[in-house]
Amino acid sequence: GYRKGGYHAARPGDRFAGGRFVAQRKLGWGNFSTVWLAYDTLESRFVALKIQKSARDYAHAARHEIELLSAATKADPTNSKCVVRLLDHFKHAGPNGQHVCLVTEFLGDSLLRLIRYNRCKGIGLSRVKEICRSVLVGLDYLHNELGIIHTDLKPENVLLVSTINPAKDPVRSGFTPILDRPVGNQYGGAVISFSEKMLKMRARRAVAKISQRRVSLGGVAAEVDEERNLDGISLKCKIVDFGNACWADQQLAGEIQTRQYRAPEDHLAQMMETLGKMPRKMATSGTRSKDYFDRYGDLKRIKRLKFWPLDRILVERFDFTEPDAKGFTDFLQPILDFTPENRPSAMQCLKHPWLN
Ligand code: ATP
Ligand code: MG
Ligand code: MG
Repeated sequence: GYRKGGYHAARPGDRFAGGRFVAQRKLGWGNFSTVWLAYDTLESRFVALKIQKSARDYAHAARHEIELLSAATKADPTNSKCVVRLLDHFKHAGPNGQHVCLVTEFLGDSLLRLIRYNRCKGIGLSRVKEICRSVLVGLDYLHNELGIIHTDLKPENVLLVSTINPAKDPVRSGFTPILDRPVGNQYGGAVISFSEKMLKMRARRAVAKISQRRVSLGGVAAEVDEERNLDGISLKCKIVDFGNACWADQQLAGEIQTRQYRAPEDHLAQMMETLGKMPRKMATSGTRSKDYFDRYGDLKRIKRLKFWPLDRILVERFDFTEPDAKGFTDFLQPILDFTPENRPSAMQCLKHPWLN
């Protein structure tokens, strides 16, 4: 946490980069950083400020992220490639050390939060397609134009984009910038100033919003279980968090991907129940195959699999109609193929009839 080498404890009103950026509220955090909504006083816009932990390895990771993100930003001058844009970066000295900071465009909630807020109902297939398209455009761009592999693609690293600019349209977005540090508490006393009270009220309201299942699209709150309230709001999204990304020709780590999203070699039984038996050759040719498979490619320890193919899951668990299930399965099944060479590229996915 918040100790030497760790996170920087920021507060609303704190200024960064010689006063240019003013912290507003914390947007999220990860293993490497805290991320704040900040107001850019030079450009009159809201931005996201990622404040990295200060220890050397974290600083190194942040500089790596800057290298990749600035390449991705530079090669996409029209901002059409569904990758978060890097706007600036600098170092910030605090009590816990020197923190590398990344300034990126301000985006909305992650797909993970969208899924959670709306877990009972899901969202319409047309929006699912729109999200797939955005993610694939981003991946195809990274893979084919830049030679970058993200390696940590998952719902929490894909953020929704709003077309409303909170700085230009503060009323609709519900944001007005805080430009001064709230007075009071900074002396450690018990005085709670008016503005801190305001902040607490805002925080409480934000919680209330979450319980009403609202999702923020870069400041614009939308009710997600009332699908029609999303009408007119595009569900475009962008890929973020390049902390683990690497150049395709420079391997960074031995293991990639968050475990739940990692390709085979894990969760063997579950995958075979959904996708059918793994090809025998693949099952038996790994360096540790003998730990899991017999020589026929059957699991050693789990004898009886309950096969439940994708299209059946969609119909029986998610109430898809037969044609919807078939269409989606046609799209998904090849992406999940056990044999890496059989999996389509992002570009091939983009051309799939399900999206067109
Ligand atoms: P990890 O542990 O996943 O590597 P990290 O420390 O590298 O995390 P990020 O994943 O980049 O940090 O960001 C942490 C969280 O902050 C995100 O999941 C998201 O909720 C929020 N966030 C990041 N960037 C933005 C942005 N541009 N706009 C809005 N929120 C953001
Ligand atoms: Mg992350
Ligand atoms: Mg990261």
